[in-house]
Amino acid sequence: VIRDDLTARPPAEAAEAAGAAAGGILIRSLTKSFGGGPRVLDGIDLTVERGQLICLVGPSGSGKSTLLRCVNLLESPDSGMIWVSGMLMGRHFDGHRVRALRPAEYRRQQSRIGMIFQQFNLFPHLTVLENIIEAPLSVRGVPRAEAVARAEELVARVGLAGRERAYPRELSGGQQQRIAIARALAMDPDVLLCDEPTSALDPELVGEVLNVLRDLAASGMTMVVVTHEMSFAREVADRVVFMAEGRIVEEGAPEQMFSHPREERTRNFLRRVL
Ligand code: ADP
Ligand code: MG
Repeated sequence: VIRDDLTARPPAEAAEAAGAAAGGILIRSLTKSFGGGPRVLDGIDLTVERGQLICLVGPSGSGKSTLLRCVNLLESPDSGMIWVSGMLMGRHFDGHRVRALRPAEYRRQQSRIGMIFQQFNLFPHLTVLENIIEAPLSVRGVPRAEAVARAEELVARVGLAGRERAYPRELSGGQQQRIAIARALAMDPDVLLCDEPTSALDPELVGEVLNVLRDLAASGMTMVVVTHEMSFAREVADRVVFMAEGRIVEEGAPEQMFSHPREERTRNFLRRVL
């Protein structure tokens, strides 16, 4: 697919943007619709600096998941550009035009991004350890012993040392989500995207997953977290971004967003969820 709308971008601007995004995420003029319908993303501009944690909030249907899925190449935008850690995602210049990726490039780009979903998506027939080493072995070609050693480290990091041989069904939802996080980290991603990581959990299990995310944020991981956990956003986010109807309505520091939202729509949303 050749996307002529992208070819007009001057290369200098692209280079500057790529530099600015080293270790972070840069999204410019992103639009997306499904099957000729209305724009689900309608001109998204977002910058996430290296090591920042952004909480993305907004009503159901506002485009939060689609935005993360575009960054992760699970959806293809209609126009606009995305850089992750300085790398232009999803397209490449061939000197004249912007083209779609070849499969190997696609996998290489996607492996730079860790993704955590509401449903943990662990492989049910694989143990905890096998779940974690699967991608490093098959996508990266990491030697097995090295992958296993790293997986054991990561299992310990999410507080589940000793459970390497367990199957997902033997773990609580909170434990499964912590293993899903360990699995994402096993690929050494530049950024971690989390789409409602605690929404499928019983209330008493939410805290243990948020604690793992909090530790990761403290360790300097660049993160975008879609969440309804406003106390988490308030405490941990560097910036809160409020989306409605495919646009970023308002963004700011948590204190400002929760205590002094500027926009009526932000106020209405927060009144309903707080
Ligand atoms: P959010 O995550 O904020 O709830 P989504 O990104 O899931 O919002 O959805 C935004 C809009 O896009 C919704 O109207 C949804 O119905 C629509 N949408 C999402 N994915 C698809 C798809 N694959 N096909 C058609 N419409 C979709
Ligand atoms: Mg969603």
